[in-house]
Amino acid sequence: MAQRPYIVGNWKMNGTRAMLSEARAIDRASQRLMKVEVAVAPPFTLIHATRKEAQQMAIGAQDCHAGSEGAHTGDVSASMVADAGASFVILGHSERRQNHTETDEMVKAKADSAIEAGLKVIVCCGETEADRDAGKAIDVVTSQLRGSLPVGGDVAERLTVAYEPVWAIGTGRVAADSDVAEMHAAIRALLLELYGEPEEDSEVRILYGGSVKPENAAQILSIADVGGALVGGASLTAESFLGIVMGATEAEEAAA
Ligand code: PEP
Repeated sequence: MAQRPYIVGNWKMNGTRAMLSEARAIDRASQRLMKVEVAVAPPFTLIHATRKEAQQMAIGAQDCHAGSEGAHTGDVSASMVADAGASFVILGHSERRQNHTETDEMVKAKADSAIEAGLKVIVCCGETEADRDAGKAIDVVTSQLRGSLPVGGDVAERLTVAYEPVWAIGTGRVAADSDVAEMHAAIRALLLELYGEPEEDSEVRILYGGSVKPENAAQILSIADVGGALVGGASLTAESFLGIVMGATEAEEAAA
């Protein structure tokens, strides 16, 4: 049996305690929508409180520092987010790569540190529009992943990859189905090269991210080797996020 689709909400720099009611509503509904694995990554400030609301869904962080402790004002380590209640961390999101000039090496160091702290990791990758127009999308993404992915031991069991074309994030534009399928196949080939053949039921899931909405979720989730979605804007209300979880449920039922 393949793994369940994984739908992850990335709240980015949104949310105060007033948003805990959305988290609660998402969690309660996810208890009834068990064909899908649901997770939310709130800002650091809400990890602990959100975890307390969650009976079913997983709670994650949106970043962590590569070091374990020390003189890094404003930073938060992997063991700190684990202590606050996170079970996973999103790393190498394009907004971190752009706004904080994070390199592949930095993302890999963070991933190593997160795995060491017992967290699962979602490593993000994605090409810019200029890369795609130049016909370089696959080269750019596979090179990002070669530099960013953790290696060694049983890291593949703790890993998810999120393919997010930069030009599709928050823009309302979605990659063509054929481009998503082609990219996911290229990522799958790289994962096989790096980690070998997976045990049954433990294949690394490859999520798609970029303007996933309730209206397009079932379609995107039915593309070959799309193992779930990383969702930004549409994860901010229970209504729209659960619409995506229902779309994933539909795609899962249609594939069964
Ligand atoms: C994201 O930032 O990971 C994302 C996919 O955002 P949005 O869903 O808003 O495009």
